[in-house]
Amino acid sequence: MKAVQYREVGAAPEVVEIPVPRPGPGEVLLEVTAAGVCHSDIAVMSWTAEQLPFPLPLTLGHEGAGVVAEVGEGVDTVRPGDAVVVYGPWGCGACVKCAQGKENYCLRAEELNIRPPGLGAPGAMAEYMIVDDPRHLIPLGELDPVRTVPLTDAGLTPYHAIKRSLPKLVPGSTAVVIGAGGLGHVGIQLLRAMTGARVIALDVSEEKLALAREVGAHETLISDDKAVGRIRELTGGRGADAVFDFAGVPPTTAIAQQCAGVESDVTIVGIGGGSVEVGFGTTAYETVVTAPYWGSRSELIEVYDLARNGDVTVHVETYSLDEAPKAYERLHANEVRGRAVIVP
Ligand code: NAD
Ligand code: ZN
Ligand code: ZN
Repeated sequence: MKAVQYREVGAAPEVVEIPVPRPGPGEVLLEVTAAGVCHSDIAVMSWTAEQLPFPLPLTLGHEGAGVVAEVGEGVDTVRPGDAVVVYGPWGCGACVKCAQGKENYCLRAEELNIRPPGLGAPGAMAEYMIVDDPRHLIPLGELDPVRTVPLTDAGLTPYHAIKRSLPKLVPGSTAVVIGAGGLGHVGIQLLRAMTGARVIALDVSEEKLALAREVGAHETLISDDKAVGRIRELTGGRGADAVFDFAGVPPTTAIAQQCAGVESDVTIVGIGGGSVEVGFGTTAYETVVTAPYWGSRSELIEVYDLARNGDVTVHVETYSLDEAPKAYERLHANEVRGRAVIVP
């Protein structure tokens, strides 16, 4: 089968021919119907050999959808032909975090060398993929895999972040979204569907700001040194009640810190090396700063239920497996509108 692999530190991903895997006991083989392209892959491919926590080659793709092709011994909760999506942040299934469905925060994943597909385990950018356990599959039903596969990460990650801040996002409040890319353009829609907040979106690109308006942002601002002043003006001096930073680079975490109001939440989702210093006088009183990772299994079910209600529409650009390296180039050049999705 064809697979898109990261094979050598610093090199571009390559399309290669590898054997179709067979499911072992307890595992599920999916025929992949769609795989999303996330900016985190670009971060992983920028790491040095010392920083890389898993061996190469790696089949990419941590957003996956497919149809069950074959089940391993003992698997009886899914059947061949079932359309599913993959919950990516695999855990041990048994620790106290996993017991709560928060496998993204599994306490034993590192010790047991459990890694997400596409981020250590073979991922979804291939004709077939192995899922380690049927509990990591969520029924897709009638939804289109190509248009919804990004919800497994670009939906789930903002959903988890927003859900934490719901008590602060009452009518009259303001949410600032920094970065209207894959995660951000879904985050804006989730904020509109789940809260009464006014949404102010920031980006460096006018095209991304146009997309932000299209998906429901009330106000859009270029992300520069005037942005904080404009946010203060738009909120009558009060500042934002929640800031979601989907870029996470030093200039955006600085904006987040400065535009956050009293008793606000600052959530740093982007992994661009930025940070917010917390201490007396560095942030407004009682600002809560956090950097979450992905989301829980039950939250992924909730995200797909929102999609079923028609409350979130991912803007996708589609590519074949052969075109996947081009999709990464376009993402790197900040040219993707919404999310790039590979369709095997
Ligand atoms: P993306 O490339 O699709 O979107 C990033 C957006 O940020 C783009 O629209 C870009 O124009 C914008 N941007 C860049 N610099 C900016 C600046 N200075 N000010 C404002 N906007 C700016 O990327 P994505 O796939 O949506 O991922 C976003 C970030 O989130 C990445 O860092 C990714 O690695 C990270 N991520 C984190 C998690 C997590 O669990 N914490 C999960 C998925 C992705
Ligand atoms: Zn991702
Ligand atoms: Zn666990």
